[in-house]
Amino acid sequence: MKYIIVTGGVMSGLGKGITAASIGRLLKNKGFEVTAIKIDPYINADAGTMNPFQHGEVFILKDGGEVDLDLGHYERFMDTAFTKDHNITTGTIYRSVIDKERRGEYLGSTVQIIPHITNEIKDTIREVARKSNAEICLVEVGGTVGDIESMPFLEAMRQMHREMPSDCIFIHVTLVPTDSMGDQKTKPSQHSVKALRELGIHPDVIVVRSKDPLNQSARDKLALFCDVPLAAVISAYDASDIYEVPLILEKERLTDYILDRFKLTPEKDDSGWRKMVERMRLLEKKIRIAVVGKYTGIEDAYLSIREALKHAGVDAGCIVDIKWIEAEELESSENPEELLGDVGGILVPGGFGIRGAEGKITAIKFAREHKIPFLGICFGFQLAVVEFARHRLGWKGASSTEITDTPYPVIEILPEQLDVEDLGGTMRLGDSEITVLKGTRAYAIYGKEEIVERHRHRYEVNPEYIEAIEEGGMRFSGKSGNRMEILEIEDHPFFIGTQFHPEFRSRPGKPAPVFRAFVRAVLRDE
Ligand code: GLN
Repeated sequence: MKYIIVTGGVMSGLGKGITAASIGRLLKNKGFEVTAIKIDPYINADAGTMNPFQHGEVFILKDGGEVDLDLGHYERFMDTAFTKDHNITTGTIYRSVIDKERRGEYLGSTVQIIPHITNEIKDTIREVARKSNAEICLVEVGGTVGDIESMPFLEAMRQMHREMPSDCIFIHVTLVPTDSMGDQKTKPSQHSVKALRELGIHPDVIVVRSKDPLNQSARDKLALFCDVPLAAVISAYDASDIYEVPLILEKERLTDYILDRFKLTPEKDDSGWRKMVERMRLLEKKIRIAVVGKYTGIEDAYLSIREALKHAGVDAGCIVDIKWIEAEELESSENPEELLGDVGGILVPGGFGIRGAEGKITAIKFAREHKIPFLGICFGFQLAVVEFARHRLGWKGASSTEITDTPYPVIEILPEQLDVEDLGGTMRLGDSEITVLKGTRAYAIYGKEEIVERHRHRYEVNPEYIEAIEEGGMRFSGKSGNRMEILEIEDHPFFIGTQFHPEFRSRPGKPAPVFRAFVRAVLRDE
């Protein structure tokens, strides 16, 4: 097993995840089996209990893992479905060490960061890599070098390199800012490499983020002061789209350098990704879709939605311009037309709690009444049921019990959730099989009866109301046992809701069927 360890310097948010994911893609293009692990040095056992304002969206894996959004980048770039053990946190490592200590596995010893925590980190990484049957394992260490939190992880990586020097490569991602005179400044990168070297890690490659491509003088300085060969200074300048990044890294010959270091010879060079990006560059036609949510201030909160719309757009031959609408703004606006009048489609994504819920319902009503293509996901699906009950069936005050007490609880807690007390990792999570009813729009979209999609919810359509809702004209066209999974309205050009999250399975070149159909419906309407 070869390990590529990706660290970050200068500041957070530089795109280490996209760098790691891009390297994974390039190595896969060349015929290697690659896996990836994300280390998050926070203490939470997973990302599931974190607010999207903090870390962006929570990505859901097939096994129900609620993980860091970088795993989403890995899945999309590498077209692989990962499991939750590919996201390691300080919390998971300490928990497992403390469990072992209680079982007496370290009997007689004082349990310490070195060697017990660092051994646990190394063993976990090796075990995950081994189980995935890959030849190359990417390990991205979250945080910025110098943070207290990431120290034990970096120390473990140092030890791993010491144990297998020819099988580990360190890639350090840094920033070169441009000053007001237009000069590219290398000092912050020099300092962050110095900080890394103080921890005993000597980077093999420096991936440099900057606005424009690095000039020769900056490259020379970085090579000299960071003590790497000139060929190992990789200029990863700002790209117009994240899917361009693998092509930029390839142009800089990063994979050649890595493979050379590992003494590996590529078997092929798949050009599928390049062709997909070239198709993207040619797109001219634009459609506009509103995404009505409550974290629209930070786009990373709806990262997978944004990417899934993009994938569907490339497939349909159009650019999807997203109009982010804060649901609360719709609540206070007298006339929803002002905010929604200029869009060709409306999407209400997943969400939790009362804030913004009424604004989302306003958006759904607008889409239903004005026959605008609509896609509701999870909370968006549930609120579409609420809206229909209130305004089409006339059930005054109908709602979800997540939001309020109501005479018509059309959305109700899942029975198996009634006794659940813990909030971490306890929702209905991950893959479930769904049966799609023949002769419905959902069947036309999927083209088959059995599908598998990812979930993350605690509430569902209340079984007591299903018959009445269906009699009123809303059809449940996908079911998982007696759980409602897909809804549609027949006398509407495109009105679909899914209790599951199709966005997590969407890939560049392989859009999620529901997104594909939604974007095509918007395009048709233009
Ligand atoms: N809050 C809703 C539930 O828990 C929807 C969840 C979601 O949109 N992911 O069922």
